[in-house]
Amino acid sequence: MGKIWRWYMNMSFMVKMTGGFLIGILLGVVLGEHSSFLAPLGTLFLNLLKMIVIPLVIFSLMVAVNHSNPKELGRIGLKIFPFYLFSTGIAVVIGIILAKITNPGAGFSLPTEVVMDAPIRPSFVDTLLNMVPSNIFNALAQGDILAVVFVSVIAGLAILFMRHSLDEKQQEMGDFLFKLLEAGNEVISKILNGILVYAPIGVLGITANTFGTQGLDTAIALGKFIGTSYLGVIILVGVAFPIMMKVFGIKVIQFYKDIKEAAFTSFVTSSSIGTLPVTIKCAEKAGIGERVAKLTLPIGATVNMNGTAIRFGVAVIFAAEIMGMTLSTPELATIVIIGTMAAIGTAGVPGAGLIGMSIVFTQAGLPIEIVALTAGINILVDMIFTFGNVVGDLVGAKIVDQTEKWKVDNTVEENAVIVTSS
Ligand code: ASP
Repeated sequence: MGKIWRWYMNMSFMVKMTGGFLIGILLGVVLGEHSSFLAPLGTLFLNLLKMIVIPLVIFSLMVAVNHSNPKELGRIGLKIFPFYLFSTGIAVVIGIILAKITNPGAGFSLPTEVVMDAPIRPSFVDTLLNMVPSNIFNALAQGDILAVVFVSVIAGLAILFMRHSLDEKQQEMGDFLFKLLEAGNEVISKILNGILVYAPIGVLGITANTFGTQGLDTAIALGKFIGTSYLGVIILVGVAFPIMMKVFGIKVIQFYKDIKEAAFTSFVTSSSIGTLPVTIKCAEKAGIGERVAKLTLPIGATVNMNGTAIRFGVAVIFAAEIMGMTLSTPELATIVIIGTMAAIGTAGVPGAGLIGMSIVFTQAGLPIEIVALTAGINILVDMIFTFGNVVGDLVGAKIVDQTEKWKVDNTVEENAVIVTSS
């Protein structure tokens, strides 16, 4: 037994995860519907990840804020949001162009038997206001990450100010709280390492259940939609992101190697938020500075949905084709804006993209019954979209970090000039 344990522990994480994934597919295909008895193994893994997400965000953000200063925090925030908007917009465009080439809606007709209610889109002002929770405990209990990020940043800042106060008593209390946070951070990191030991078995459970319970007929009928979705994310991750990273002088291949565990976990869990602990761990490996990683990644997991944005582009063309509509260029431009906003509003949890899709369709005047047509194969596409979402979060963090490092280099150079000239 001890031998097997040691063999398991010594195996590389990616080999174990891939093993779990492949065995899961095999079991799913062989057992079919019966594979659902393995589903609890996957649910356990997802629950474990979700269990540590909130404390992880709280502790790691408060510690990161304390290693920083308000000016730097503001600067990082101002850099990451334009990236999120830009990359999400580009992703919708990729989805639209690709679907125009592959015609995923050809041969379909509007489903008449399903009736869906149009979802209500929260206004932009409401989304911003919701970041400030009227009840902290509600926000924590509901796993409202944006609100938790907000509270953690301001609480972290309060502790930072205490530590730098001229009042000795305040300083003492601030230092004590900071030590406590660092200790809490350590606890979370130990728990995460334990969860990752279990991860491959969880992956096996999720994959067996997914592949065993998905109707093959629907998957084949919607093959073009699925294929276009995968191709769109491949173009985003394989072409668009590398171009963006090259502009900032980032070594793309090495970066992708460093983040492979997060990319894989996102694919099998279909949840950006569930993957967040692994994403933060990989950011460290990829050399992304602690402050940038811990500030941007929790926000990214909640608002930056580049993969989901591809879905919206593809889905709009899919629906237009079913309806026999041709969308004009100004109409498509409007869809890019609506799609970008809807992607930002999509939660980083499994299945959230379907709700976002209904919002885009409602805004674009397309029948939301078509959303139901893709619901049956949602698990299969959700995997690749979430993969695009999480890779996008890390690409954004890496680019911002790169520009932060330039700043440090410039400051060092400026100081050197001052020293040599004086
Ligand atoms: N599942 C995706 C995520 O967690 C969101 C979506 O459904 O598109 O990132």
